Amino acid sequence: MAVDGGYDWDGRWNHVRKFLERPGPFAHPDFEPCTEALSGFRLIHVVDMDTIDISNLNRQFLFRPKDVGRPKAEVAADFINNRIPGCKVVPHYKKIQDFDESFYRQFHIIVCGLDSIIARRWMNGMLISLLSYEDGVLDPSSIIPLIDGGTEGFKGNSRVILPGMTACIDCTLELYPPQINFPMCTIASMPRLPEHCIEYARILLWPKEKPFGETSLDGDNPEHIQWVFKKSIERAAEFHITGVTYRLTQGVVKRIIPAVASTNAVIAAACSLEVFKIASSAYIPLNNYLVFNDVDGLYTYTFEAERKENCSACSQVPQNLQFPPSAKLQEVLEYLMENASLQMKSPAITTTLEGKNKTLYLQVFNFTEHTHFFYLGLSDGQELAVADVTTPQTVLFKLNFTT
Ligand SMILES: [Zn+2]
Repeated sequence: MAVDGGYDWDGRWNHVRKFLERPGPFAHPDFEPCTEALSGFRLIHVVDMDTIDISNLNRQFLFRPKDVGRPKAEVAADFINNRIPGCKVVPHYKKIQDFDESFYRQFHIIVCGLDSIIARRWMNGMLISLLSYEDGVLDPSSIIPLIDGGTEGFKGNSRVILPGMTACIDCTLELYPPQINFPMCTIASMPRLPEHCIEYARILLWPKEKPFGETSLDGDNPEHIQWVFKKSIERAAEFHITGVTYRLTQGVVKRIIPAVASTNAVIAAACSLEVFKIASSAYIPLNNYLVFNDVDGLYTYTFEAERKENCSACSQVPQNLQFPPSAKLQEVLEYLMENASLQMKSPAITTTLEGKNKTLYLQVFNFTEHTHFFYLGLSDGQELAVADVTTPQTVLFKLNFTT
């Protein structure tokens, strides 16, 4: 395995050679062992908008106490650049949305370790927008594989997405449960869990008692959390509920699910392995979804998530909206946000009327939502273009009137 720049030393690649220079029962059927294999990952770009918090140090092994406050991307890049000769990591202390398609097009593989579904959907949409089709046939050279890892406490998953070929993030959107909110009646009158008591203090008492004036509750302000904690304990005592702690209070207020170092390590390893398999072609990549759970014992399995025929992100099928002609724009908005396979956040709707582009709805300019289709000039078969933070592209819908 020849590497330029004098970065090789005896035995450096021994662990990789075991996979690339001999056959095995799990090898790719077309794989031919050879010595002219990889020279390692030479160039990696890392994009991250976050800085290092002291609470990250328990699980993120590239960071040290001296790095607290510095951008994660820069510290991670420095660490690897110092440690792994021949590998260059380029950090970007930015949001993934700060880059356009010319940036993402330069990569062979993209790995996501994101903490939000919106960001995942955005990256998914970006890679789908890079696909090129000739006479309806996908050009395979335009596919950039996406490897996505995610964890939530003791649960995690990793998946391999070949945009345009296998299930994409939006194809399986229904797998992501909506954020858990407790029913208000439970919080107000029938609390059973410590979380109900904390929500009571957060949602009902804070705005009523205004302990810090008009200031809204800040999960990073210890005095605020202390106040909610104290009120939650009083509430819990009243209903004989135990388990309210300062830590739980902060967790509920900030909607934190604790990060577990071991889960993160397993998922990171699973993602890295898929990158290796795709880059080397030595093994068949994961097809296509791995679930990992160590809440109680250890459980893992893989399954093939299926493409959704009419996926709004990857299917190229026009999306139909079925509404009676008497409907209001608000009903369309609610559908776009509440439908399990769309789950948009703040859709903006435009259309073409009499040859002119017309904005129908923007959140900051929203006095049209109670208007009936008729008064907006919308007719059966009208095309609506919808922009949203969940995708870098606009999604086209066709308005079909029902009778
Ligand atoms: Zn899809």
